[in-house]
Amino acid sequence: MNKNTFEAIGRALREYDRFAILSHVRPDGDALGSTLALTLSLKELGKDVRAWNEEGMLEKYGFLAGAELLTLPPNAPEEFDVAIALDTATQNRLGKATEAVRQARLWINIDHHPSNPGYGDLVYVDPIAPATGQILFELITTEKLPMTPAVAENLYAAISTDTGSFQYPNTTARTFEIAADLIRAGVNVGRLSQLLYESYPKRRVELLRLLLGTMQFGCDNKLAWFSLSQEMAKSVGALPEDNEGLIDHLRAIRGVVVAIFFEELADGKVRVSMRSKNEAVDVCAICQSFGGGGHTLAAGARVRGALNEVSQKIVEKACDVTRRNT
Ligand code: 5GP
Ligand code: MN
Repeated sequence: MNKNTFEAIGRALREYDRFAILSHVRPDGDALGSTLALTLSLKELGKDVRAWNEEGMLEKYGFLAGAELLTLPPNAPEEFDVAIALDTATQNRLGKATEAVRQARLWINIDHHPSNPGYGDLVYVDPIAPATGQILFELITTEKLPMTPAVAENLYAAISTDTGSFQYPNTTARTFEIAADLIRAGVNVGRLSQLLYESYPKRRVELLRLLLGTMQFGCDNKLAWFSLSQEMAKSVGALPEDNEGLIDHLRAIRGVVVAIFFEELADGKVRVSMRSKNEAVDVCAICQSFGGGGHTLAAGARVRGALNEVSQKIVEKACDVTRRNT
């Protein structure tokens, strides 16, 4: 899927001057950390860079170096030499940020989702990489782009969050070598880990309490799921960003192969988030059959319908696939 080389991308980064860096809707640590890392590195090179996400900078990642550089997209579109999509499997998942790019001579697509079809003019999709942050580390070091402590911190945050703190099976020796290099480049692991994993707002745990109240098991306890209605979210004042990672509590249960999180959205759709603990159960394929995508072990979709209808339909399909493959 890597249609282009770091060299070709590096050349474009040096040659052009005005860049827009975008990432997917409902951004996670990899999307935001990768965006900030590349933004800071290019600014260090003297480039004119805009970093936009449909949701702007999430409060919970507001401590990241350079966080103030990442904003909501403006209403009036701007012109660029290069637009870069990071960590985004399909172009439409860039959301409203795309509309703010009136024109770019070149689109660069850097990602690690196997479902990425390879949109854009320069494409680097490595589905083996555990995080887009890891690909950016290789790009920045191979192409000798600036690696400051601020860049390193953002890359470390991207990799740490997307590997579940270096736990998921796509974490390799290379990932740890990169982490070591990032520490040498100035990352304070204790400080950063505390900010990432031990600074949750109280409402997030209140939300978890509500969610656990809806927890269900099926398919001989191989499936576990819980559901969040808009009313529940409102009752604890939860923000959309508060539920990132809560699904891990289901995945952590012995015997559970597939964990599913259903979230009622305001637009009549349900956001489905799925995790698998067994490579034989490909949750990306399940989500793709509902119009979504992602990775073999972590995927999602947005499905039109009421919370209980959608959850029933999806649980049935997930159970079917789990039964056939385990
Ligand atoms: P999460 O469950 O954390 O939202 O997402 C897990 C993975 O699935 C991420 O890599 C994410 O990009 C992908 N994903 C989540 N929702 C969707 C979706 O609606 N469409 C596609 N194509 N991918 C999704
Ligand atoms: Mn990612």
